[in-house]
Amino acid sequence: MKKTHPSIASHTAKMYEKKRIGIVAHDYRKRDLLDWAEYNKEILKNHKLFGTGTTGGLIAKKLGLPVHRFMSGPLGGDQQMGAAIAEGKIDILIFFWDPLQAQPHDVDVKALLRIAIVYNIPLACNRSSADFLISSELLNQPYERYLVDYGKRLKNLSVDE
Ligand code: PGA
Repeated sequence: MKKTHPSIASHTAKMYEKKRIGIVAHDYRKRDLLDWAEYNKEILKNHKLFGTGTTGGLIAKKLGLPVHRFMSGPLGGDQQMGAAIAEGKIDILIFFWDPLQAQPHDVDVKALLRIAIVYNIPLACNRSSADFLISSELLNQPYERYLVDYGKRLKNLSVDE
């Protein structure tokens, strides 16, 4: 199992061969996301897929693969996805967010991106990053993810990151 930062990692989270992949796309990015997902169907079918309501439904329909669907993003789906990351139920996030349009749920979007950073999960927000992520040799291997001990820092016991 590959490890990151073995010398400083006091906390880690295990990721298994089969990854739990969260997928979200804003409306103007859905076409691109669906095209990417279809192109990578043979890889994605080996993993467990999660999506916000509309994105998840479109992927399930286009790829014919099971997708666990949260609520639609603006109705709480981004928050559900973030909660699943915090609970260790999502390993990877593919999030095609729209750089040209403010969203009614911008605060939720920001929160989801933030929580992906807090839990150090692989995060791709555009197509080339998603390509690099999905073609990584680590995708099909167990991986021990380094977790920053923010709890310690919040208690002012340490300044380590
Ligand atoms: P949707 O939500 O998949 O339900 O469209 C995505 C989002 O806007 O966060």
